[in-house]
Amino acid sequence: MAFVNENFLKLSDNYLFADIAKRVREFKAESGVEDVISLGIGDVTQPLCEAAVKAIHDAAAEMSVASTFRGYGPEQGYDFLREAIVMGDFMSRGIKIGVDEVFVNDGAKSDTGNFQEIVGKDNIIALTDPVYPVYMDSNIMAGRRVVKLPCLVDNGFVPELPEEHVDVIYLCYPNNPTGTVLKKDDLRKWVDYAIEHGSLIFYDAAYEAFISNDDVPHSIYEIDGAERVAVEFHSFSKTAGFTGVRCGYTVVPKEVTAVTASGKRVRLNPLWNRRQSTKFNGTSYLSQRAAEAVYSPEGREQTRAAIEYYMRNASIMGDVLRELGFDVYGGEDAPYLWVKTPENVDSWSFFDRLLRKAHVVCTPGVGFGQCGDGFVRLTAFGQHEQTLEALRRVREWLER
Ligand SMILES: *Cc1c(COP(=O)(O)O)cnc(C)c1O
Repeated sequence: MAFVNENFLKLSDNYLFADIAKRVREFKAESGVEDVISLGIGDVTQPLCEAAVKAIHDAAAEMSVASTFRGYGPEQGYDFLREAIVMGDFMSRGIKIGVDEVFVNDGAKSDTGNFQEIVGKDNIIALTDPVYPVYMDSNIMAGRRVVKLPCLVDNGFVPELPEEHVDVIYLCYPNNPTGTVLKKDDLRKWVDYAIEHGSLIFYDAAYEAFISNDDVPHSIYEIDGAERVAVEFHSFSKTAGFTGVRCGYTVVPKEVTAVTASGKRVRLNPLWNRRQSTKFNGTSYLSQRAAEAVYSPEGREQTRAAIEYYMRNASIMGDVLRELGFDVYGGEDAPYLWVKTPENVDSWSFFDRLLRKAHVVCTPGVGFGQCGDGFVRLTAFGQHEQTLEALRRVREWLER
């Protein structure tokens, strides 16, 4: 008899985006309206930058010749990319990270979901509410207990230190879904907590490239001591439009440790290396060459232009929505705006109103956790003209 992993039965149904699609479909069918604009998409819309496209072409040409063909690459990623990452994302900020502390992957979702495998089953996990669902679901699959850290208007969406002890803390800043940030002093409190309690921080920096304010850290390693307690996840998906190309990386400093039941300190870097070598066979050579090109002068300039395009959307969205009387959070250092629903209506009711009255789609905040109810998430990843048209419709609805 084969037994099922019953932890999977504890997962709540993850139908958020399916539910949204269904409601939109039903509305279109009953109203005859076809032209619905989505400000709910979590995917980028600008094409891959030229520097990355050229790198993929060149890599494909190498692959077509026996003398330069590449088969399996190193599970940890090619050194050309790991070196570009160390120089481009860390040395340039005065942070010392070794090439062998960088693990290239096929996107941050895999590693943010998988990294929990190398820590014990009995760790208590702290997650913000609202949260990127990957952290929650991967820990439920493993059977761990989760403590929630509410992020609300009252605390400025900065999670407070937990009252009970926690062993592993997931932080994602700039945040998906709220678009809010932790300043250096806010993050320092968490690093100090982790040092004092022997805890680990799993830090998701997927939106680091969208930061514009100077007091917002791009990496947790800007905080003293973080190199002993933190693992950091990065992705080229939002930074450089790699959602379809697939590439990211995880930093596991050699100093980061956890203890065995008998109290022996064990380094996580060799454990993660062992795990990856067993279960992962590397990221495509083409993707890694494309990622390397993101760090070239042209690549930097082109990705910066795409980010500015999205952040221009975010800025206009924030201005218009505030003018219309909404309380709007985020959107300054992240491509997400977290909008309070008027009159405290729940997320789904506001979703329906916005769809029916303005023909605009948002993402209900409650889909990211109970504390997200009464909010919706809007994204700045749309085409500029579409975003302006969506705002025009919202204005027309409210001023009608
Ligand atoms: C989009 C996103 C990622 C990156 O996912 P990829 O697998 O690299 O495409 C990671 N974390 C968060 C919170 C995200 O929103």
